[in-house]
Amino acid sequence: MPWCEPCEKYLSPNAVSVVGTCPKCGERVEDKDGQPADSQKIPWHFWVFVGAALIYLFWRLIQGLGFLFT
Ligand SMILES: [Zn+2]
Repeated sequence: MPWCEPCEKYLSPNAVSVVGTCPKCGERVEDKDGQPADSQKIPWHFWVFVGAALIYLFWRLIQGLGFLFT
């Protein structure tokens, strides 16, 4: 659970910004073990989407090249 020292309260992991700062005071938020909070990890389905997009673009590239050479 991320803990904001200036606000003296726990933040929900989703409330912590991407760079690990408090949305209220902008201070860096730390986890209970003293590590900077990095609660907003990139979700796995983002990479599924990126992979699908890359495959699609690759496929379109192949199609485009095939069109050029036929
Ligand atoms: Zn704060």
